[in-house]
Amino acid sequence: MLAALRAEGLDVVEHPGWRTHSRTAPGRPWGPVHGVLIHHTAGRSSAATVWGGRSNLPGPLAHGLLAKSGVVTVTSAGRANHAGPVAKNAFAAVLAESAKHPRPSVASGTVDGNTCFYGLEIENLGDGADPYPDAQYDAAVRWAAALCRAHGWSAHSAVGHKETSVEGKPDPSFDMHDFRRAVAERLAHGPDWNPLEESDMPSTLGLYDDTPRTLRPGAWTTLPVEHTDLLSGAVAYDALALVTVKAPVGSTVQGRFFHVREDGTRWQSGIVERAGTTGDTFADFGHKGSIGKKEKLRLEVVYYPATPDDEEPVTVSAARVRGLYWKAS
Ligand SMILES: [Zn+2]
Repeated sequence: MLAALRAEGLDVVEHPGWRTHSRTAPGRPWGPVHGVLIHHTAGRSSAATVWGGRSNLPGPLAHGLLAKSGVVTVTSAGRANHAGPVAKNAFAAVLAESAKHPRPSVASGTVDGNTCFYGLEIENLGDGADPYPDAQYDAAVRWAAALCRAHGWSAHSAVGHKETSVEGKPDPSFDMHDFRRAVAERLAHGPDWNPLEESDMPSTLGLYDDTPRTLRPGAWTTLPVEHTDLLSGAVAYDALALVTVKAPVGSTVQGRFFHVREDGTRWQSGIVERAGTTGDTFADFGHKGSIGKKEKLRLEVVYYPATPDDEEPVTVSAARVRGLYWKAS
């Protein structure tokens, strides 16, 4: 675990005795492990509590405590009292690595979450006002990604306590879908991947192309805008594509940016959907991300007619990509 966390670029501190500090005992097993569970402490200076527990709940209360600074203190390598009962429907979604994480249902039954989840306590009041500094949030993403990577899991094995708890736990106080997207982006790269820091000197991305392009219904089509590769090399970007297409009312146009790696495999951003309108449809697709040294940024779109049997293609009359990018220094 330690090696995986450090390989992911985490600043890890070992609490003395962490390797043998656990709740594991006969009748209280640890493993097999199936996922990672994210918590907030709902307090400050939680180190003693996460290690030793509370009067009604013996410690350790997590496998790691993540400070505001982004430093993780590892507190256990075995069973910890953090998950409590986990709803069976939520657990099934983790096992299936489903993209859909259902609301935890008591009626579905429960499993012992402390057997099968790693737990991270993130120091935060959880009141919605206390911020998660960038260094802390980034470290939480790295912690989850490191364990998912070590076990060969996808980002869908990373869930929040609020997504599994049948006791109405509210933590963590950030959006878990955004969190999983960030974990997935890390997993699409190697553990040593470092998203580029945005320097004070961005370059402007401004591409325009009015070559007509045909979109056949239902077929994802790479859309060149001056070039097929909109950006290449080690850059961070914040880009918006504006596509002008004659998409009738009732139809939809979807778009997304994707990264092509050297070996031809790809990572793709989430799909954005726009509805067809009378006259020209102006569909906009935004994404913020970064590509590695040998990766390319491309755009693709797909057209879905109002009725599935409509096989008439539509035409993109113009496409523009605007934004900023930051080169690796
Ligand atoms: Zn919790």
